[in-house]
Amino acid sequence: MTTIRQLLEEKGSDVWAIDPDDSVFNAVTEMSSKDVGGLLVMDGDKIVGIITERDYTRNVILKGKTSPETPVRDIMTANVICATSEQSIIDCLQIMTDQRIRHLPVVDDGQLVGMVSIGDLVKRIINDQKTTIEELQQKGS
Ligand code: AMP
Repeated sequence: MTTIRQLLEEKGSDVWAIDPDDSVFNAVTEMSSKDVGGLLVMDGDKIVGIITERDYTRNVILKGKTSPETPVRDIMTANVICATSEQSIIDCLQIMTDQRIRHLPVVDDGQLVGMVSIGDLVKRIINDQKTTIEELQQKGS
């Protein structure tokens, strides 16, 4: 069973983050330049929240707020759900599906070691399945 550690070895351990006092405009700009849908909100080296495109559409656009005037802390989710690198990718996909989230920071013994998105997990699961099918086909021929 593929673990989050194996996935991070492949995709890298970069985590894009923003300060809670920074503006939502800067957060969205950073998401766009890094081509990601969410940022971890860090106060120094402490995780204090997570902000995703969904927070922006629901809590800024729909509420008639403006992104340069709204601080990240006003719309972030403070109760961050995390994974550990020993968990399997299937377990993490289950967590994301149950919690209706698409981003999971990876924390080992209080140390941030990466971030995975639902896209990373689905891509890896499809590749793993392809490999299994090829192996079974080779055994059968
Ligand atoms: P997403 O589907 O990842 O865009 O996130 C949907 C909602 O869940 C947004 O309000 C996010 O702030 C929140 N969210 C995303 N990832 C997490 C997470 N790992 N822990 C807690 N909340 C999250």
